[in-house]
Amino acid sequence: MLAFRARYIFPIDSPPIRDGLVAIDHDRIIAVGSASSPAQSDFVPAARDLGEVAILPGLVNPHTHLEFSDLSQPLGAPGIAFPDWIRLVVANRRARSTSRDLDPIARGLAESTQCGVTAIGEIASTPWHRLVCLPLEVTQFCEFISLRTDDERYQTVVRAVTSGADGPVLWTDQLRPALIPHAPYSVRPELIFQAAQVSSRRQIPLALHLAESREELTLLRDGTGPLVNLMKDFGQWDPAAIPRDSKPMDYLQMLTEADRALIIHGNYLTGAEIDFLASHGHHMSVVYCPRTHAYFGHDPYPLAKMLAAGVNVAIGTDSRASSPDLSPLNEIRFAAAKHPSVRPPSLAWMITAGAASALGRNHEIGTITAGKFADLSIIALPPTGAADPYELLLDPACQTVATIFHGRFVHGAQKLLSAGELTPDF
Ligand SMILES: [Zn+2]
Repeated sequence: MLAFRARYIFPIDSPPIRDGLVAIDHDRIIAVGSASSPAQSDFVPAARDLGEVAILPGLVNPHTHLEFSDLSQPLGAPGIAFPDWIRLVVANRRARSTSRDLDPIARGLAESTQCGVTAIGEIASTPWHRLVCLPLEVTQFCEFISLRTDDERYQTVVRAVTSGADGPVLWTDQLRPALIPHAPYSVRPELIFQAAQVSSRRQIPLALHLAESREELTLLRDGTGPLVNLMKDFGQWDPAAIPRDSKPMDYLQMLTEADRALIIHGNYLTGAEIDFLASHGHHMSVVYCPRTHAYFGHDPYPLAKMLAAGVNVAIGTDSRASSPDLSPLNEIRFAAAKHPSVRPPSLAWMITAGAASALGRNHEIGTITAGKFADLSIIALPPTGAADPYELLLDPACQTVATIFHGRFVHGAQKLLSAGELTPDF
């Protein structure tokens, strides 16, 4: 058993606890509360006082593409047209397949734990797995692109996702299968619908990049525009694949079939589409990527509108190809400045409980609750600070100092513990 005492504990599903205590046993949380409460008195003598820190649930980043984690800066320049950026992404991926001297996945996993992240929704253009223990939980969305009638890639991905121990990826509780047809401009609608049916049968999440750019809306409506030229240049365009006058709502309706659907970006969803998502909130969520949204200079993001409608919005970092780092805290700090009407507790929810819910994992992770996994992020606080503790989380000076995944330190143990305490249990 381990117990930690901190200036604040943010359970997320209840108000922050000043002078809080959280106790863990092996990989589970067994108690959380005020250190002065009689209910916690058994744990206080054994508790390690971490001082001026906040303990949050391990952060959940519902949208990453770790294959780009070795990029020191985004591809292109701010304001780049989305189709031009896709060309850079594809060129970058092709260049990597011939010179692979770095392991961007490993770098992305390490950066994530340094940022307090204990679960990710990872988009894998090629399914990957690690034989060694993962330092966090990965829901791996296996991606496919298929606009023409050649469905080989789709079949391969569905086989990988639904396979057992004899398949190409050994799925475990920490490496969980999921599906992502890439986007409406790169996958035939009937395959997206079929993928939603697989999601339902296998009870796995399904994601789709949707309503991401104006160019996508033009392609769906008219079958023209820069994304059509892009698909033609890649030899992928089929003019009969997508009915004219299609719109994101057509895809939202297909996704209701899925066990759980994540709408990635949703930058250009209409009011009716937002209301539709809200009415399916028990299994449909939106993932907003604030710095990526800003990088492309899109229209203002309808975050307040989505929240007012009751949509479950999660916040993700997207990849280093369009964002400077993999820190969910940095994303909500950026979002706070863009959306002053959205309160800090909502922003904190979107990188913890809301993101866990989007991935269908809220019964195990996303809040500090007895019985859930002992996944915690520990953040340094200034000696004095705002009256509202949530405001402290938005202070850029407050950085992650340690991360605990399933009861073990995966980052920062040496910053918090003395040499004598650094036992193998940590
Ligand atoms: Zn993405």
